[in-house]
Amino acid sequence: MKKKTIYSHKCDWCNRELILNGSDSDSYVITAEYKYFCIIQTPGKPAERDCMSDYLNNINEKIIKKAKDLEIKKRQKEEQEKAAKEKRLLEKPRVLAKLAAYQKELKDREFKRRLQKHPS
Ligand SMILES: [Zn+2]
Repeated sequence: MKKKTIYSHKCDWCNRELILNGSDSDSYVITAEYKYFCIIQTPGKPAERDCMSDYLNNINEKIIKKAKDLEIKKRQKEEQEKAAKEKRLLEKPRVLAKLAAYQKELKDREFKRRLQKHPS
């Protein structure tokens, strides 16, 4: 009896050894990226095992999670910037008030000196 070569490949999702040919072959799908996934489905019933869907769902979840993480980080950064801006705005009037007081004091001194120089 001629021995038939049996090919196998691990499922890229669950790592189960898939038998690709022969009488004991598993049902599987190969994607365009040459990834192998098991699929066990009785026609007319929901799939018992559909590793490609699980794999794709997982990728989608990762993408969604990544997008959410980025959005959270962006929002946190915006809030930090907003808080820093508000802090600066709060500090500014105080600095300006001090400066104005100082300028007034200088003016007053100058005025008094002129009065002393030119008494009327
Ligand atoms: Zn699998």
